[in-house]
Amino acid sequence: MTITTPIDAGSRPAADAVRALTAAVTRVHTPGTEGYARLTTTQNLATPVQPVAVVEATDAHEVATTLRLAAEAGVRVAVQGTGHGVTEAMTGAVLVHTAALDELTVDPVRRRARIGAGVRWSAVIEAAAPHGLAPVCGSSPHVGVAGFLTGGGVGPLARSHGLSSDYVEAFEVVTGDGVVRRASRTEHPDLFWGLRGGKGALGIVTAVELDLPPVAQVYGGALWFAAEDATPVVRTWGVWADLLPAAATTSLAVLRLPDLELVPPPLRGRTVVCVRFVWTGDPDEGAELLRAVRAVGQPLVDSVAVMPYAAIGAVHADPEDPMPTSESTFLLEDFGPEAVERFLDLVGPHVPSPQLMVEVRQLGGKLREGDDCAFAHRDAPYSVFTAGFAIPETADVVGGDARRIAQGLAPWSRAGAMPNFSTGAGWLERAYPAPVAARLRELSLTYDPAGVLLAARGLRD
Ligand SMILES: Cc1cc2nc3c(=O)[nH]c(=O)nc-3n(C[C@H](O)[C@H](O)[C@H](O)COP(=O)(O)OP(=O)(O)OC[C@H]3O[C@@H](n4cnc5c(N)ncnc54)[C@H](O)[C@@H]3O)c2cc1C
Repeated sequence: MTITTPIDAGSRPAADAVRALTAAVTRVHTPGTEGYARLTTTQNLATPVQPVAVVEATDAHEVATTLRLAAEAGVRVAVQGTGHGVTEAMTGAVLVHTAALDELTVDPVRRRARIGAGVRWSAVIEAAAPHGLAPVCGSSPHVGVAGFLTGGGVGPLARSHGLSSDYVEAFEVVTGDGVVRRASRTEHPDLFWGLRGGKGALGIVTAVELDLPPVAQVYGGALWFAAEDATPVVRTWGVWADLLPAAATTSLAVLRLPDLELVPPPLRGRTVVCVRFVWTGDPDEGAELLRAVRAVGQPLVDSVAVMPYAAIGAVHADPEDPMPTSESTFLLEDFGPEAVERFLDLVGPHVPSPQLMVEVRQLGGKLREGDDCAFAHRDAPYSVFTAGFAIPETADVVGGDARRIAQGLAPWSRAGAMPNFSTGAGWLERAYPAPVAARLRELSLTYDPAGVLLAARGLRD
């Protein structure tokens, strides 16, 4: 049987699946229970998650049992670790939650970690730090390791160290057919290709073996400038970033910060321009490189200094509390002087915009190297990400404004988007060019013949 239609929460297949699961696995949470409420909480409150039930998996075999019983009942299965990347309501699906898969060991001799699918980057950073080792993580340590790595992963070491999923040695994964497998460069290499960028389309990862490069400290942080300095800062960044060696990873963000206590006083309630900088070479050389940006104006906050890698989350200082947001993303081929002027016209402090943040990340460097995998945009020079506060009443306005920005920058954009930031209609087509989508579809037919994984729906239907 192939699952093709969405199932109603109150339907017979859903009830059959919940009954069978309750008899077979230890922790099944149904709507109205404390466990269900806790595990369906997400970081983005604009996307409530409403599966027919949540299986809080305690090992890979429970994940396998869930996939097999759901397939028999004709119900799809979704996966969530932290709720930082939720893209849909999961209506009619069973949700496998991985929070209880929390194993974490670091082997300092082999410079490798084994990480359960429910673990967040913060725990890995902390466990690796005493050995002078570092996971190549994303901007926020609160994000989950498995969700991040299955999207490739582009973080504050992206240019110096490359795509985070390049550091995966092996995934332990339960494929859609309910079989526990190990995928590596030598075991199921096709599956390994698809898991690095294909998100949850082929299976539910239960553990990751990850290489940890030696990075004890970096010269990093952020320069926060007032709105009055926005024009020279953005103009300087556009030229300066282009000249940086690969040991530097940088991004620029225009932020309209709310007047709330969680924002530090010098920045609270202000529109600011933030330049993030992480340099893995000699700190004096990093300071010399940054001199050109520091010279543009008097930053409101200058946090760039030698810092332990354990503090890497301070570079982007992403918000930790859940909030409702509407997000969008696209790639740029070029952020030269013309694109910079258009960017300022579109998102500069003088323009009324509901976006909390419009960010340009410089890519390139080591990101361009590494194995072929389902992450398809290694050669993109820049990515743009927008996020606006979006309660139902404002969602259309924020989405419309994001389209205004994307259309304005269209002359410099290129097709595609990174899977980790992709949301909304058509995200799959943007994340995966046709040949990559076709290969993922073929793998999905092999490893998930019934089409039980919700994440493969766009590839299969
Ligand atoms: C504050 C913030 C900062 C971010 N910074 C970066 C960044 O610097 N670079 C970057 O690349 N991304 C970044 N992201 C995006 C983030 O990597 C994705 O949203 C990622 O999917 C989150 O994974 P999660 O497990 O925490 O979230 P979840 O919502 O739990 O999972 C999201 C998706 O990941 C997949 N997934 C999760 N667990 C598994 C599993 N066990 N097996 C298979 N698939 C799974 C599924 O498709 C799932 O729908 C950021 C997101 C936030 C909210």
